[in-house]
Amino acid sequence: MTALAATVIVTVFLYRYGDVARKIIHVDMDCFYAAVEVRDHPELAGKPVAVGGPAGGRGVLSTCNYQAREFGVRSAMPSGEALRRCPNLIIVPGRMQVYQQISQQIRAIFAKYTDLIEPLSLDEAFLDVSDCTLHRGSATLIAKQIRAEILAATGLTASAGIANCKFIAKIASDENKPNGQFVVLPSETEAFAAQLPLRKIPGVGPKTAERLTARGLNVGADVLKHQPEQLAQWLGKFGPVLHQRAQGIDNRAVVSHRERKSVGVETTLFEDLGSETECLHELHKLLPKLSQRLGTKRFKGLNLKLKFSDFQQTTVSCQAHQLEENTLRALLHTGYQRGEGRGVRLVGISVTLDDAKTQQLSLLM
Ligand SMILES: [Mg+2]
Repeated sequence: MTALAATVIVTVFLYRYGDVARKIIHVDMDCFYAAVEVRDHPELAGKPVAVGGPAGGRGVLSTCNYQAREFGVRSAMPSGEALRRCPNLIIVPGRMQVYQQISQQIRAIFAKYTDLIEPLSLDEAFLDVSDCTLHRGSATLIAKQIRAEILAATGLTASAGIANCKFIAKIASDENKPNGQFVVLPSETEAFAAQLPLRKIPGVGPKTAERLTARGLNVGADVLKHQPEQLAQWLGKFGPVLHQRAQGIDNRAVVSHRERKSVGVETTLFEDLGSETECLHELHKLLPKLSQRLGTKRFKGLNLKLKFSDFQQTTVSCQAHQLEENTLRALLHTGYQRGEGRGVRLVGISVTLDDAKTQQLSLLM
């Protein structure tokens, strides 16, 4: 066997098993909605500002700026509580259309660097830049450049996390916020995961974190003292996943919407929903819009997305060729359970289009 053939085989093997470092950037705008409001209303500059529902009722803040955070105001906090902590807080209503336009501007910048873009919300996305040759392929420099371009185009700052897998990139983007970035090199991944507080790992909700703490598990390294089988007994299917995350392993690919070919609608609520019934009601409101977007296209899967009051989000998917009430309820039930009692601030539903059938039809015609 020639050296070249051996190299190819080893490389294919490593790619297959995810050991060749992928380069993933998680870009996250800083206090997005609030930053947009301050940008467009210069008289707000330097003052504590939040975007959200009015105090009274169940109004909650969706975002607040750093001046507000100094008073202990946080995203997802009820507006009344926020005003108690910071009486001078200026709460302005959200302007979704403006945020959506800016989001498109940002995505156009991402697209200069890679096709593999997975948006998580209007202000956040994963980018797989493994094949990007700009800046000699340095993900650190690419992230810097992207942030500079976003600032030049929108006047808004973004932060970035750079790592070889998604969940670490996401955690890293929080490390040097605002207007900063943080790199976890492949050689540092294991150590970084070992010291991670478990609550920071996506999928560990408040109750799961409590149960883990009760067993003396607080950081990644604690998880690794137990076998995946043991963790499965405690946490079900998530147990072995957590065992991987605690080693810094996350083989999930960055999946772009274009590739997934889905059509979806979602709604962000300025008051958290506190029951499945309320979520179902919101979903029903979305369905006419979905069917309008879908037109006569066929689909093969349904995906339900929920974002919780602490901004963690979850997606539940199933195969389906039509939309039935029972399926919708079942998806919602699974997703809502994952909230472990947290309120819901965003509901969305999308369908995965059925390419095969579309192609067959076009061939026949
Ligand atoms: Mg953000």
